[in-house]
Amino acid sequence: LVCLLLSLPVFAAADAPQFDCDFPGGNFILDKAEGDDVSFHQDLRETDGDWFYWYFRVRNAGGRTLTFHLTKGNHIGARGPAVSDDGGKTFRWLGLSAVKDGTFSYTFAADAADVRFSVAMPYQETNWKAFLQKIGNRPELKAEVLCKSPKGRDVEMLHVGKLDGGAKHRVAITCRHHACEMMASFELEGILEGVLADDETGKWLRENVEFLILPFMDKDGVEDGLQGKNRKPHDPNRDYMGESIYPSVAAVKKLVPEWSGGKLRILLDLHCPYLKGGANENIHLVGGPNPAIWERAQRFGEILQRVQRGPLVYRTQDNVAHGQTWNTLKEPRSVGIWAAELPGISFATSLEFPYANVRDKDVTPETARAFGHDVAAAFAEYLKQ
Ligand SMILES: [Zn+2]
Repeated sequence: LVCLLLSLPVFAAADAPQFDCDFPGGNFILDKAEGDDVSFHQDLRETDGDWFYWYFRVRNAGGRTLTFHLTKGNHIGARGPAVSDDGGKTFRWLGLSAVKDGTFSYTFAADAADVRFSVAMPYQETNWKAFLQKIGNRPELKAEVLCKSPKGRDVEMLHVGKLDGGAKHRVAITCRHHACEMMASFELEGILEGVLADDETGKWLRENVEFLILPFMDKDGVEDGLQGKNRKPHDPNRDYMGESIYPSVAAVKKLVPEWSGGKLRILLDLHCPYLKGGANENIHLVGGPNPAIWERAQRFGEILQRVQRGPLVYRTQDNVAHGQTWNTLKEPRSVGIWAAELPGISFATSLEFPYANVRDKDVTPETARAFGHDVAAAFAEYLKQ
């Protein structure tokens, strides 16, 4: 939301294209715009080191073909940038044919009014509200507020499923501990659709499970367009040990054990991995240091692999066990490691869901939701056992 528009020509002609990020989730720093070439980079404010999230708007460019140059890293995903012609409501992948050597080109329709580009498909509070409106008021659904964010925003919380206190099992799902990991939010929508579906899975889940959903653990980061990952001095998923600096984390640490009543079986923390390449283009579970918890998480993975029907295919062989590559955190700083110690828990883990590409299939809101349905089906199968 806070943008640094550097080097904007003071004498810009009235018909010159305009670039900004003054809207929820916006993240963009303009280096220069000259003719049909636009140089920009991601805003790394409040971030320790480099990351790749960016999201900006172009107006007054109808009929032109512009080439965008990323000046701080080739942060273009596996399907190219995402583009929106409807003011950020819907996005599509531009595709790699528009991408060349850290640049991408776009021809604007003659009547283009508000065209947005992003590293992937932004998901903001407005998306969540639209989703809740679409599913409508139902007795199995209770929307509440977990707490206020440091900037005074509501941090949303949703109870779904069997809400009369008699649920046999409880499941908590957290999302956006890392603000930029927006594709996981579409997956979350799919999980909720699965829980509310008029099928065997949905019915069983609604009769036996109470879900606690926390869609935006870093609400300010999401709305202010921060990277969120490696946020300074530490990000919300490194805030679970000792005294928490994020009110949402402090609230989860207080609420979840109380709410659980010893019946919290699963805590699933939804993430997206790095932008592209290798393991970042596979869905995977992330192992914690507790072997018994990891064994049960892997059993959940086996069930997910068996019951999945959507186009985005998960394979247990892609899981990242504790101690492998980057996965070496031992202390209970993350929600997964923290929750693994809660009484009655079966497993707590992160689920990494790629930004753009799973094997040869593209990640879109539709395919992400389909994968969410598969996760819901796996919850039911796992809990039945
Ligand atoms: Zn993450």
